[in-house]
Amino acid sequence: MFENLTTRLGTVLDSIRGQGRLTEDQINAATRELRMALLEADVALPVVKEFIERIKVRAIGVEITQSLTPGQQFLRVVQQELTQTLGGVAEPINLRAQPPAVILMAGLQGAGKTTTTGKLALFLKEREKKTVIVVSADVYRPAAIEQLRIVAGNVGVEWFPSEVGQNPIAIAEAALAHARKTYADVLIVDTAGRTTVNEDMMKEITALHGALNPVETLFVVDSMTGQDAAKTAKAFADVLPLTGVVLTKVDGDSRGGAALSVRQVTGKPIKFMGMGEKSDKLEIFHPDRIATRILGQGDMLSLIEETTRKVDQEKALKFAEKLKKNKTFDLEDFREQMAQVQNMGSMEAILDKLPGGAQMKAQVAKANPEKQIKRSVAIINSMTKQERKYPDLIKASRKRRIAAGAGVEVQAVNQLMRQFETTRDMMKKMAGGGMMKMMRSLAG
Ligand code: GDP
Repeated sequence: MFENLTTRLGTVLDSIRGQGRLTEDQINAATRELRMALLEADVALPVVKEFIERIKVRAIGVEITQSLTPGQQFLRVVQQELTQTLGGVAEPINLRAQPPAVILMAGLQGAGKTTTTGKLALFLKEREKKTVIVVSADVYRPAAIEQLRIVAGNVGVEWFPSEVGQNPIAIAEAALAHARKTYADVLIVDTAGRTTVNEDMMKEITALHGALNPVETLFVVDSMTGQDAAKTAKAFADVLPLTGVVLTKVDGDSRGGAALSVRQVTGKPIKFMGMGEKSDKLEIFHPDRIATRILGQGDMLSLIEETTRKVDQEKALKFAEKLKKNKTFDLEDFREQMAQVQNMGSMEAILDKLPGGAQMKAQVAKANPEKQIKRSVAIINSMTKQERKYPDLIKASRKRRIAAGAGVEVQAVNQLMRQFETTRDMMKKMAGGGMMKMMRSLAG
C-alpha cells in the first residue's frame, strides 16, 4: 500500500530529519520535493497546492521546542497536515436510524460495489453484531445479482432475491418492507453501475435514494484510478447526498493519489478501505494511522487491534495456563501456535503495518513464510502422537520416516526440530509471566 509514495517521501524527509537548524531555503527545497512526490502519486493539483502552502506557513513559523530538532518538527508538521488532508479523524459508519438502517451503495461498474457490499455485511455482522440483509438492484446484469447471492452466502447474511427485468425501485421497496417485517438491523442495497458517469445511472440512483431514504449513501471507488477517483466521486456527490466514500483495491495501489484527493475534492469522508478481494479485507479508514503509514512509521495500533481480534483469546489463555502448570511445550503446542500465526493473516499485511516494514517486504516475500509454515505443519502431521508429545524420541531413523511422509528432505525435519527447540526455550522463559509483560509493553 502506497509504497512508492512512502519511499519518495522518505527520501525527502531523511534529508531534513537530522538538521539542527532549518533555513527558509532548506524548507523551500524540501517542500518542492514534497510537491513533486505528491504529483507523482497522482494527487489532485489543488490538494497538493493547499497542502504545500499549509506546510510552508507552519514550517517557517515553527517555534523551536527543546525536545524536537527542527528536522523532527518538520516531519511532525508533515504528518499532521497529511492526517488533515486524509480527513482528520476517522468517521464511523452511521447506523443511527429507525431500523432497518439502510445503506445505499453507489459507484461505477467494476469499482468493487458488490464485493464491498459483502465485506460491509460481514463487518456489521461480526463487529457490530447486527442482522444484515443484502439486495441487488442491478437489473441489467444477471451475473451481478448472482454474485451478490454467492457473496451473501459466503459471509452468512440474508440475501433478498431480485431478478433482471424488475423495476429497481420496486425491488428496493420490497426489500425494505421485508427487512422491517423481519426486524433486521441493516439493509444494504447494491446498485447497478455503468462504465462511465451517465445520466440514466444518476437518475436511477437518485430515485432509489428517494425511495429508500438511506442513513448512509456510500460511494465505492477504485483507489488505483488516482485523482480520477476523486473526480468521479465529485460527480456523484453533486447529484446525490453522499455520506461517505469506500476506497477499494488499496492493497494494489502504490501511489495513494486517490486517498489523498478524495476528502478535499468531495468534502466527503473516506469511511473504509478495501485491502483485498476476500470478504474480511475491509478496514476502517483512520487518517492519522494512514498518515504514519505513508511516512514509513508503520501502524502498530491497527496491528495490535487486529491481532487481538484474530487470535483466539480463550485458546491463548488456556495455553498460557497449561504452560505454567506442567512447564512443557511439545510439538502439538508448536503446531497450534503456527495455526494461530496463520490466522493472523499474511505476513505481508503484517509487515505493511510495521515501521520500516515496506523495505522488509521484498526479503520476506523471497522467504515465503506462509509456505514454510505449511511445510512445518505437514512435517508435524506426519509424526506419531507419541513423537509429538515426546520430541526427544525423534532420532535419525524416525526423522527419515517423517521426512518421507511429509515429502521433504531430512534436512527440513532437522530444521523444524531446531526451530521447535528454540521456541520451547523461549516459551519456558516466558512462562514465568514474561509474556504478559511483553504484551503490555507492546500495547503501551
Ligand atoms: P462492481 O462491479 O462494482 O460490483 O465490482 P465487483 O465487486 O464485482 O469487483 C470488481 C473486481 O474488483 C473483482 O474482481 C473484485 O474481486 C475486485 N476487488 C474489489 N475490491 C477489491 C479490493 O479491495 N482489493 C482487490 N485487490 N480487489 C478488489
